[in-house]
This record gives sequence, C-alpha cells and structure tokens, in this order.
Amino acid sequence: MRHYFLGAAANYSRKQRLLHTFTIGRKKDCSALKDFLLKKYSGNEVFLTKNGRSALALALKANFDKGDGIIVNGFTCYAVYEAIRAAGMVPIFTDIDKSSLNFNNETLSMILATACPSDNSPQATQVKSSNSVECFTAKAIPKGIIIQNSFGNAVDIEAIERLTKKYGLTIIEDLAHSAGVKYADGREVGTVGAATMLSFGKDKAIDTISGGAVVFRHPCKNKVEAPSKIPKLSDHLRARFYPLFGAISRGLSYVYLGGVWMRMLIKMRWVEKSADNKLDLERKISKFEAKLALKQLKNLKKAGEGKIREFYLVNNREELLAKLKKAGYYFDGFWYEKPVSPERYYKRVHFPEEACPTAVEISKKIINFPTYYKKQDLKKAYEILKDYEESFK
Ligand SMILES: *Cc1c(COP(=O)(O)O)cnc(C)c1O
Repeated sequence: MRHYFLGAAANYSRKQRLLHTFTIGRKKDCSALKDFLLKKYSGNEVFLTKNGRSALALALKANFDKGDGIIVNGFTCYAVYEAIRAAGMVPIFTDIDKSSLNFNNETLSMILATACPSDNSPQATQVKSSNSVECFTAKAIPKGIIIQNSFGNAVDIEAIERLTKKYGLTIIEDLAHSAGVKYADGREVGTVGAATMLSFGKDKAIDTISGGAVVFRHPCKNKVEAPSKIPKLSDHLRARFYPLFGAISRGLSYVYLGGVWMRMLIKMRWVEKSADNKLDLERKISKFEAKLALKQLKNLKKAGEGKIREFYLVNNREELLAKLKKAGYYFDGFWYEKPVSPERYYKRVHFPEEACPTAVEISKKIINFPTYYKKQDLKKAYEILKDYEESFK
C-alpha cells in the first residue's frame, strides 16, 4: 500500500466519498447541529463558523479585551496563534511535558508566577528574581487560557482549575484534537470552560474538511456577531471534492504521480493546505458540512478513545522518514515539525524558544501516526520505527 498519509478524508471508502460529495445540507441541518452542541456542552449560544480558528477568535473576542494575555500550549499550530492575534490578544506560550505534549501544573505555575505582578508568594518572588525571568517576557497580563488536549491527551484539568481560580483566568477549551475525550475526573472535554471551540477541519477529531463551531457556556463579556455570510463557492467546492482528489492521488501514487497531482491541485488552488485556510469571522459553515459534522458527533462514542495521532520521539528523524517513504508510508507534512507548525509560518510567531525548551526538543524528535488505520496496516511502519525510537520515561 502507498500514500497512507494524505489524511483521513483522502482515505475514505468509496461509500464515504460518495456521501461526502453528494450530501445535500439544509438550514434545518444547521439548526440540528446547533441544538446538539448546545445540549452536549450545556451552552447558551452557539455559532457555526468557516473553520476552527474563526470559532476560536470569536470565543476570545467574546471573553477578553484587546491586549489581554492568553496562555497557550507551547506546542500548537499556527491557526491558534492566528486566532489569538486576530482577536487582538497576546499569546503567552507555555512549555509542555514529554508524555502528554500539554502544559502542566509546573510549567503553568512558573509562567503565572512570573507574568502576574500581583503574585508575591515566595515561589513567585524566587522565579522573578532568578535569571530566567528574561525568558518569560510576554509583556501581557494573563487573563485567559486555551486548553488544547494535544492529540487527544487530556490535561490534568483539576490542577489547571486550581491555578485558574487562583489567578482569575477564564478557560477556553479547544476541541480540535479531542472532541469526545474525557478528563481524568470523568467530565467530558468541552464542559469545563467559558467557551468551547470545535474544528471540523482536515484530520481533526471531527473531520468534514472545513467548518467549525463555538459554544458559549457562560454569559459573555463582550458582544460578538454571529457569522452571517454564506460560504464562498470556491471554499465550498474545495471541501466537496477533497476526498475525491485525495483518492485520485492515492491511485496515481502507484505510478509515482500522486505527488505531482497534489502539487498541481495546490498550485491551482483546488486544494488548500490546512494552514492556509483563511480566518473569517463573518462566513458561516457550509450546510452539508454541518450535516456531516452532526453525524460524526453522534458517532463519537462508537469511535472509542479520541486520540487523533499516536506520537513517538525518535532520533535521526530525516533518515527514518526516508526509510518510511521507501516502504510506501508518506509522512510528508506530518504534524509539528516546529513548536508552532507549519514551519513556513514559524518566523511570524516569534516563538520564545528559551522559555519552552521541551517544546523545542520535541519538535525536533516527534513523529506521529494517524489513528484511523489498523495496527496491522502500519505493521511495517512500526518495525521501521523501532530502530529509531527514543525511550524517555
Ligand atoms: C487545526 C487546529 C485549530 C484550528 O482549526 P481550523 O479548522 O483548521 O481553523 C485550532 N486548534 C488546534 C489545536 C488545531 O490543531
């Protein structure tokens, strides 16, 4: 088999592909999705959006003011950074741990003690007087925190809530990776914060190629307008035909033309790389995507545990990638080759590398497999991986 890693939608069965291409969405499908989300996440309002980043920007605008600091996972995608900036806030990147790829009690305490001027506890004073302070100059007071649950690994929510209470932070939950997952205390992700954001983009926990939603769970500080414009035709068509284009690419890869085909589609803008999908607060979701997203949300339980990627830390990644490619496993564009991915946007972020050493290290070593394949299909890949894997525990 070849071309494993064009993403979930490029590997749809024929039936799924036909369903995706020909599903007709109606207004009532949007209403049904809204009702479902309101109930599932006990919200008082919900907006359906063009993509996840737009939903996240709306969640932030509604809950924070311009210039507020927002704590964000030190290992994330450009879309998250883009949403924070578009909403007018300042990202405060926080380092992660190697086992969950999430920030934790320690890394958060460190950032908060340094960034909050009012904290005069002995611990904070010690951190502030140490030389490492220079590393944490985000120059904004933290008011909010985005919980990402990287790849479906839930954060230690109780520890985080203790800190958010102490420092008066508002929680926003980002379910792009983790819809359906439960925290250790039994609560489901999305039922904790002031707002919950979902992405229905390519390879997310719910994947209809594009689309997103924000559920407001608490009364909002600021008023935000619901998206009111219908999607652009070009965006609609791109979302419609992606699974079909992906299947053609997979077929062509047997005669070594899959890559050429995909590059051509991207050049003609018939396919858009996920990172390039524009943030737009005014556009609504495509109705057919609302219909498909609802169906996937209802099936979340059946899918079982909601990990979207299985990650490994490796040495000599370039060599490993080349070997995998030779065996027909295409890892091109695998997730997170920088603390904030993709690499081509990394410079714009001005990422504080000194403050997030683990995120930097991980981004050099990580490789990750999608979870929608059977272990059997990936058997050879695992065998190749074995020689490169780094043990870290
Ligand atoms: C992809 C992603 C988003 C944004 O979703 P889009 O639908 O692509 O805009 C937000 N947060 C995380 C963690 C993501 O991986």
